[in-house]
Amino acid sequence: MAYYLGLDIGGTYLKAGLVDEAGTILRQMKAPTKGQVRSAGEIVAEAKRLLDELRKDTPGEIASLGVGSPGVVAHGRRIVRAYNLPFDDVDIASMFEKIICLPTAVGNDANVAALAESRYGAGKGKKSVLLVTLGTGVGGGLIIDDSIYAGFNGTGLEIGHLVLVAGGVPCSCGRNGCIESYISATALIRQTIEAGERDPGSKLGRLVRSGANITGRTAFKLAEDKDPAALKVVQKYIGYVGIALANYINAYLPEILLIGGGISHAGPAFIDAAAKIALDEAFVFPEVGYPKITAAALGNDAGIVGAALIGKENCLSR
Ligand SMILES: [Zn+2]
Repeated sequence: MAYYLGLDIGGTYLKAGLVDEAGTILRQMKAPTKGQVRSAGEIVAEAKRLLDELRKDTPGEIASLGVGSPGVVAHGRRIVRAYNLPFDDVDIASMFEKIICLPTAVGNDANVAALAESRYGAGKGKKSVLLVTLGTGVGGGLIIDDSIYAGFNGTGLEIGHLVLVAGGVPCSCGRNGCIESYISATALIRQTIEAGERDPGSKLGRLVRSGANITGRTAFKLAEDKDPAALKVVQKYIGYVGIALANYINAYLPEILLIGGGISHAGPAFIDAAAKIALDEAFVFPEVGYPKITAAALGNDAGIVGAALIGKENCLSR
């Protein structure tokens, strides 16, 4: 039985895992990236330490390494740009192949997570799967017939950077009014704080004034207590998510649309409410079936499992 290594490079942690043929993580390790390492070389060296540890006592042959990274990844080998990480057009696959002597492939972290969800998670058995992750930003990946669709040069898709509100809130990408600026966890926190400041007498307002840590869950929690200011934030946020999902359905019409990232844990009621708006607005017809909209299943494991998968598949087909 062959085994595969998966490495998930994140802005906060490096996570590495040993994955079997069935997509199960047998062992995993992590190390912080923030503040500890500064150059691409140092990150690769730290990753090698984790991978060497995982390779010890593996009961069979390790066939490949797959790497998931944020940012722009080209041709399964190069990280062209990774924003919060020091990768500036680095051929990271060659770097790893030299020091760990395994065939290596690299993919965008959101794309590989979508692949993992489509093989082993909530998208299993579906012909087309769109994963939308609501985290610090909005990312995701589109899987068609078991393969990642990433555009003509492999650097897509950027589903967080479609405009939702023309001339709206400035986005990290340089445009205004992107979906990411309205439905990411960062955006929800901003909306929560602004609502608290507008309505200082509400529970939400008092919480914001107290200097408490406001998260993507704060408004959802206070809305359960029927705080009107929090309810308004949640309703407006769900509305934005619903419209964004309707746009994705109109553009891609996937068989299943999966919601991942921290906010997806706000509960099934959140996803159902956003799904209802999406299906009301989208160009869909009951006679031919609606796309299913549900929570992603693999959580943080999707990064390691998806990375291992692209390593396995890209390297075997070479
Ligand atoms: Zn943008």
